[in-house]
Amino acid sequence: MFYAKEKLSENAELAVELTEENVYCKCPVCGREVPVNLAAVFADGEGDLASTAVLCAHCTAEVLGGKRDEV
Ligand SMILES: [Zn+2]
Repeated sequence: MFYAKEKLSENAELAVELTEENVYCKCPVCGREVPVNLAAVFADGEGDLASTAVLCAHCTAEVLGGKRDEV
């Protein structure tokens, strides 16, 4: 299992198991919280945790819709 670890104080530490259901990022367009399946996002072997962003469903639809309009 993978988990995130954060030191809360000198005597306390928080460890949270990473699953397919508890990893999120913020949509870079609107700031909405987006659930992320890390395994799926990095399945192609590209991207990294700092620079990879996932659009929310709303913004994805707008981007796809925009592309369709331009054609
Ligand atoms: Zn969005």
